[in-house]
Amino acid sequence: MADAQDDLPTRLQRVRDKIATCARRSGREPDDITLIAVSKTHPASSIKEALSLGVSDFGENRVQEADLKIETVGRSAASWHLIGHLQANKARRAIKLFDWIHSLDSVALAQRLDRACAEEGRAELSVLIQVDLASEETKSGIEPAALPELIETVNNCARLKLRGLMVLPPFYEESEKVRHYFQRLRALRDELSEQGHFAGNRGELSMGMTHDFEVAIEEGATIVRIGTAIFGAREAIK
Ligand SMILES: *Cc1c(COP(=O)(O)O)cnc(C)c1O
Repeated sequence: MADAQDDLPTRLQRVRDKIATCARRSGREPDDITLIAVSKTHPASSIKEALSLGVSDFGENRVQEADLKIETVGRSAASWHLIGHLQANKARRAIKLFDWIHSLDSVALAQRLDRACAEEGRAELSVLIQVDLASEETKSGIEPAALPELIETVNNCARLKLRGLMVLPPFYEESEKVRHYFQRLRALRDELSEQGHFAGNRGELSMGMTHDFEVAIEEGATIVRIGTAIFGAREAIK
């Protein structure tokens, strides 16, 4: 946890150093890991400060909250990632605001997003499927058993580009306990990749947050979503 008196440049540098160290330790290149700064609950001014320090990707988990901030910072100033659950009735707004959707979790939402893209004249939307690997914890995402149907749907949606998988494991104080979720997501990704399901590369793995991103990188994360370690603690509301 970051000290309260630390400033954003210091915290950001610490995160970047840890990502680089962890990547090398795992036999990977630091550049192979994209850092998404999760700015939910933090003001546009914090996003602008991070932008000035070279952060290019930001994560928000609510369409409504992101709307105002993205307008203030500038839609084209950064790449915007929706990392929270998306309600179908907000699909149209979401495709105007976000470059990537990490939380695709149903056939109906895929179809809705594709239709919205067509209607808004958006040629391409990068999506990640959020997989629910711990259903008893009531996390959102799609169960692995339902993945094939969703993947088939996405691949039939002309405007959706399936880039990879995302997981949000349950929170454990001890980050080692989430390792097996990351391992399972990676195994799923590898299997789907072999079947040629991902656009562009072998498939992104969006996994790892403030308390567990080092474990995630060790297990192959290509995208880490980090809020608290960069922007400081959030208010209790989530
Ligand atoms: C809030 C959030 C994060 C970042 O969490 P931190 O612990 O603050 O790094 C990452 N992913 C998702 C889906 C989130 O909602």
